[in-house]
Amino acid sequence: MKIYNTLSRQKEEFVPIEEGKVRMYVCGPTVYNFIHIGNARPMIVFDTVRRYLEYKGYEVNYVSNFTDVDDKIINKAIEEGRSAAEVSRQYIEECKKDMEGMNVKPATAHPLATEEIHGMLAMIETLMDKGYAYRAQDGTVYYRTRKFPEYGKLSHKNLDDLQAGHRDIKVTGVQKEDAFDFVLWKPKKEGEPYWESPWCDGRPGWHLECSVMAKHYLGDEIDIHAGGEDLIFPHHENEIAQSEAANGKIFSRYWMHNGFLNIDNKKMSKSLGNFFTVREIQEKYDLQVLRFFMLSAHYRSPLNFSAELMESAKAGLERIVTAAGNLQHLLGASQTGPMTEAEAALYEESGAFVAKFEAAMEDDFNTADAVSAVFELVKFANSNATAENSREFLEKLYERLDTLCGILGILVERKEEILDADIEALIAERQAARKEKNFGRADEIRDTLLAKGIILEDTREGVKWKRA
Ligand code: AMP
Ligand code: ZN
Repeated sequence: MKIYNTLSRQKEEFVPIEEGKVRMYVCGPTVYNFIHIGNARPMIVFDTVRRYLEYKGYEVNYVSNFTDVDDKIINKAIEEGRSAAEVSRQYIEECKKDMEGMNVKPATAHPLATEEIHGMLAMIETLMDKGYAYRAQDGTVYYRTRKFPEYGKLSHKNLDDLQAGHRDIKVTGVQKEDAFDFVLWKPKKEGEPYWESPWCDGRPGWHLECSVMAKHYLGDEIDIHAGGEDLIFPHHENEIAQSEAANGKIFSRYWMHNGFLNIDNKKMSKSLGNFFTVREIQEKYDLQVLRFFMLSAHYRSPLNFSAELMESAKAGLERIVTAAGNLQHLLGASQTGPMTEAEAALYEESGAFVAKFEAAMEDDFNTADAVSAVFELVKFANSNATAENSREFLEKLYERLDTLCGILGILVERKEEILDADIEALIAERQAARKEKNFGRADEIRDTLLAKGIILEDTREGVKWKRA
């Protein structure tokens, strides 16, 4: 299996540290809002990497954090007059719902930065002892970047070139020894969450959080570290500097980075107004469509989001689900008994699509080609499966389709349609729950309906609903 490693800028054969096991860390979102479809890309593609590794028989320890202390969270909390912890807790829950909708498996561990402060203090202490960190007058602790000779090895940047290219990078204030030194611990500001430390009351720097959470849950040496390409510099470069200086070991063997998701060929940004949350997409599409759309491109390529491409993903997914539904239908009417010789030969022929699928995935997880192999299998099933076939043949063909789609995290079973009468009954129950101030139950009903593609709107004339 080959993985493109950002470190070497080459595809490399994957060899895990420990046979049969993979330790994988994926940088998770900062939770101050609903996640957007850009955040969804690393979740979907690296979940697919995990699923393929599991299919290959690896035991994958998959860790993905939530950054739950950050300026953006604090600002949102101030804006809304509630605590940062309340804001992050809310959006972690919302994020988990989106992940479920996109069929992203829960990680083995989802650590929260605020619950790992102890480890952060310990790592700073080690870095201090080794001379890689220093405390400035105001209590800020900085990492002494130039002391780490390999700084720049991931992003292929050289500090001197960077400095020459950016004359404006000067030492700011008198606090830092060098412009490239970055924060490990910063003093609290009025009204901000803080923890006590030997250097000052304050909070950790973002880069430190990931180094520490990876160490806690996966150890000093991990196999794969992943995230969006914007994280290569400085986030991942700084993580390497911290972890390798503190632990004295190579931090991660393979670094994987997904390309960016653009909208209508423009960079997605709030200011341009071309910004979608996963929740907004869910109002129009089953999130399986979003997942299928994301996997239609190679994870390292930029991917353009447009209504047209989503429609085509929807149609593609429908072809697969329909083929699977047909096989199920035929199964109901099929002859019991084993495969005939002719069927066995046909079944073997369909193995070529599995081989093609695997070859694509083995080549740096080329999901675009893997999806093509699934379509070929669908075409094969459509033209070869009939009601005259044996049960065994139809079952095996269905299983084959189900397995390949399962690796992509795509469900082949059509979701059960919910009847209008059931929707009305649930809405009535929700109204009753609200009257009794049982808002937990009321929210639960809204979420259940949303998962089935039913959107509720509270209007002056009462509750209205529509199908997504
Ligand atoms: P953040 O919450 O900004 O730390 O981002 C969480 C994850 O989403 C990181 O791995 C980012 O690299 C990734 N990400 C953010 N925006 C995009 C985008 N437009 N396309 C792809 N990945 C993104
Ligand atoms: Zn990170």
